[in-house]
Amino acid sequence: MRNTVSVTEFLKHQIPPALDLLRQMVGINSFTSNREGVNKLGRFTADCFAPLGFSVEFVPSANPGFGDHLVLTKPGRSQRSIAMVSHLDTVFPPEEEARNQFRWQPEGDRIYGPGTHDIKGGTMMMWLVLQALREQAPAAFEDITWKLLWNSSEETLSQDFGDLCRRRFDSSTLAALVFEAEGRLGEERLMVVARKGRATWRVTVTGRGAHAGGKHWHGANAIVQLAQTVQDIAALTDYSRELTFNVGTVSGGTVLNRVPHEAVAEGEFRAFTPEVYGKAKTALLALGGPGRVRSPADKYACAVKVEILAESPPWPRNPNTDRLAAMWQEAGKELGISVNVEERGGLSDGNWIWDVVPTLDGLGPWGDNDHCSERSADGSKLPEYVEVSSFVPKAALNTLAILRLIERDIAFSRASRQ
Ligand SMILES: [Zn+2]
Repeated sequence: MRNTVSVTEFLKHQIPPALDLLRQMVGINSFTSNREGVNKLGRFTADCFAPLGFSVEFVPSANPGFGDHLVLTKPGRSQRSIAMVSHLDTVFPPEEEARNQFRWQPEGDRIYGPGTHDIKGGTMMMWLVLQALREQAPAAFEDITWKLLWNSSEETLSQDFGDLCRRRFDSSTLAALVFEAEGRLGEERLMVVARKGRATWRVTVTGRGAHAGGKHWHGANAIVQLAQTVQDIAALTDYSRELTFNVGTVSGGTVLNRVPHEAVAEGEFRAFTPEVYGKAKTALLALGGPGRVRSPADKYACAVKVEILAESPPWPRNPNTDRLAAMWQEAGKELGISVNVEERGGLSDGNWIWDVVPTLDGLGPWGDNDHCSERSADGSKLPEYVEVSSFVPKAALNTLAILRLIERDIAFSRASRQ
């Protein structure tokens, strides 16, 4: 009923217009804090998808310093919906792009530039897939309600976009497909089926200041206590359970002739499963309370305060995601592309939605060096790029897998009606 060759041929012809749109997207700086730039990219993106029949809605961010989230919808004949998720923002301030001359730069099969890979290339992948579905499988395309959602501030792990997605999903949402970068292992394309959860934390130690010459024995040294506490935190890392703690920053003290009364450290921890994550959080919080460092004079103890600053929940392996991944593997067989899965340490918007709707991630194109804008003369440092030749096979794979998802759901609902 469908012809893999014609899907691939159709997609090849879509690459020149797709790259032209991508070039214009990359030309709009959309650093998370560049509110105007993010909004400009949102409007441009809405224009790109308008010819496919999508209507636009801008949803303000919870943080007024950030741009609007973008929601594009195309109602289908049925209630059944499929969500596609991407983001508008990048990690590159405009000054940094200018300083490093980091801009749209094709070079052989690569195109360097801010967001070419993370994630404007992913947005272009969505565009290609929807074009292919409309041309090659018009009945399925018209039947489904398509919901496309762009986070304005994914790179800051803002939670309000996850809440927005959850409000738009219901029991007829077949899947949420996240267009973050593809993984690779040799020739295998890796879909993302799990991501670590992450919590950021702050430890504040309050000691007792004292004259470092005259009353040294009266002081309770906050820095010495913090040094002990960060050792305790670092020791919570357990690679056998894929749990990592990172002490990211430390500061403390004021002048050299004072026993310091305050010291602060901040960091994060990450884990794949809710169990490991929960135990890690408990162990971290248990380090709060009176410290071991006390003043020699009267045993005045340093006080250790441990706070969780922000949390993104883990996205563990789960049957719903695995079912989607299996469809991508079957579609890969049809196309002669080998497809496998990976569990990734970094986070995405998938962390906020996997538990309400079957979610699969890593559907974007292949490239590398995300979050890097620098290029060194000897080539040992290269900036972010996307590989042009990765678009067509991946778009064909996504297209055929989505058709499997739609057909299987129809078969399933027919069977359950009988
Ligand atoms: Zn991203």
